[in-house]
Amino acid sequence: MVELSIEKAKSARSACKACKSKLAKDEVRVGITVSKGSYDEVTWYHVSCFAKTKHAGSKDLEDLDGYSSLSGTEQAEAKKEFEKGAKGAKSNAKSKKASKSQSDKSESEDESEEDSGKGKKGAKKGTAKKASSGGPLAGYTVAEKAIYQRYYEEALELSVAAIKQALKKNGMTQNGNKAEIASRMADCQILGTLPNCTKCGGGRLRFNQQDGTYFCKGYMDDADFVNCSAKYARNEVTRGTWTD
Ligand SMILES: [Zn+2]
Ligand SMILES: [Zn+2]
Repeated sequence: MVELSIEKAKSARSACKACKSKLAKDEVRVGITVSKGSYDEVTWYHVSCFAKTKHAGSKDLEDLDGYSSLSGTEQAEAKKEFEKGAKGAKSNAKSKKASKSQSDKSESEDESEEDSGKGKKGAKKGTAKKASSGGPLAGYTVAEKAIYQRYYEEALELSVAAIKQALKKNGMTQNGNKAEIASRMADCQILGTLPNCTKCGGGRLRFNQQDGTYFCKGYMDDADFVNCSAKYARNEVTRGTWTD
């Protein structure tokens, strides 16, 4: 699952994954977010460097998340940079070759990362299954479980875009397949929105539906990944209010 976004750099600490040079604070950058199952990993690109990646053809610049938050000037400049990058990739066969091998490289990197993520997830699922005898929703009370199942089915009736919009409105992660985002939405509708981890300060807590505990896997702090493995009992976490 890959999400594309565009924004002004929050700090001067991130570097472009393609050309490796630093992105200035407030410089418009494109983020490629890959869901690792329990957390999201973002890599940043100059707009012109992004234009040379395999992801550039999949969406128009104005369809990227965050585009409407840029000013008119920033949007126009971003478009210019994008065209410059795309043209450079086409007109110069040598640079096309170079950028192709680069994008191939990042592709294989992405894939291996995704694969290892999947493996981890699969392994985690397996052990969780073994450990829990009360089924996949044993972390809920009987009453909550019944409402959860109803909300979950209702969420599945919605479009992916509508579910993501609802999650976004409530500040929740929008990554995952339809079943995952519908489950997140149903869970937050009943128990409330998920707060950030108080230990690392930046990771969004995840709810383990099988045993009712919360855990943190860390977060991407602009340029660096902050590891965290905090765990919380259900009564240690206060959820926020879900807005429909
Ligand atoms: Zn770059
Ligand atoms: Zn944490």
